[in-house]
Amino acid sequence: MRLAGKAALITGAGSGIGRRTASLFAAEGAAVVAVDIDPKGLLDTVRGIEAKGGRIIGVQADVSRDEDCAAMIEAAEGEFGGLHVLFNNAGVSHPDDSDAVETTEEVWDLTFAVNVKGVFLGCKHGIPAMRRSGGGSVINTASFVARVGAATPQLAYTASKGAVLSLTRELAVVHAKEGIRVNALCPGPLRTELLMQYLDTEEKRQRRLIHIPMGRFGEATEVAHAALWLASDESSFVTGTEFMVDGGITAAYVTPLAP
Ligand code: NAD
Repeated sequence: MRLAGKAALITGAGSGIGRRTASLFAAEGAAVVAVDIDPKGLLDTVRGIEAKGGRIIGVQADVSRDEDCAAMIEAAEGEFGGLHVLFNNAGVSHPDDSDAVETTEEVWDLTFAVNVKGVFLGCKHGIPAMRRSGGGSVINTASFVARVGAATPQLAYTASKGAVLSLTRELAVVHAKEGIRVNALCPGPLRTELLMQYLDTEEKRQRRLIHIPMGRFGEATEVAHAALWLASDESSFVTGTEFMVDGGITAAYVTPLAP
């Protein structure tokens, strides 16, 4: 059991990467606090893990709200006596996010409220709890788009994920001596709801696939396994990194031709 004795809070646990990670962390012995704004997705995650005998509670919260973030951390300490892993994973990708000319201020502000302020607030309340627990591992979900520009623009999303990388680096440096590690996880294009709602035709999917050396989309479970390693003590000398789980997309200039 790679997370035995640890309490882990995961935001965005009602779907995709967060749900898969909650399930994997619970199977590896963690007590899990699953957090999501969507009560239905959250309940499905909690019931699924309970059915397999995992230790889990669900907390409905909007990570862009200070009081909600305070409450989710309080729930972790209240229920499980501490906090050792904080996976700031909730994120939004707005359908109207576009280039600088077309993107509205509302879309920009919403994207930054969830993707950047949500990570800040998770740390604001989570780091004191980790100090009380004697240290821990913070994992912030960024994206491969923080490292490369795309011709199909999503300016607010891309910029928000760049901010996640820079705040991760600084947090890592500031809290290193306290035994609190902070790393960013950068998934490539995945076969989850968040991306597939845009890539809703075979033609659109193929246009994205030609950029991925492995020639396929990633799975949420492949990101969850990277999160597990960052959460566990196996990564004890790793902090401030940008952990790419992207099928090679950010390494590629030209990809092999499709057969
Ligand atoms: P998803 O849409 O399946 O899951 C995201 C979850 O976050 C949802 O359950 C949603 O309800 C929740 N959420 C949204 N706003 C919230 C808020 N304000 N407070 C609390 N919860 C909120 O997406 P996913 O693919 O699992 O994405 C998870 C993370 O991975 C996101 O940060 C996303 O940007 C990032 N990511 C995804 C991909 C991809 O291809 N899917 C690629 C790179 C990065």
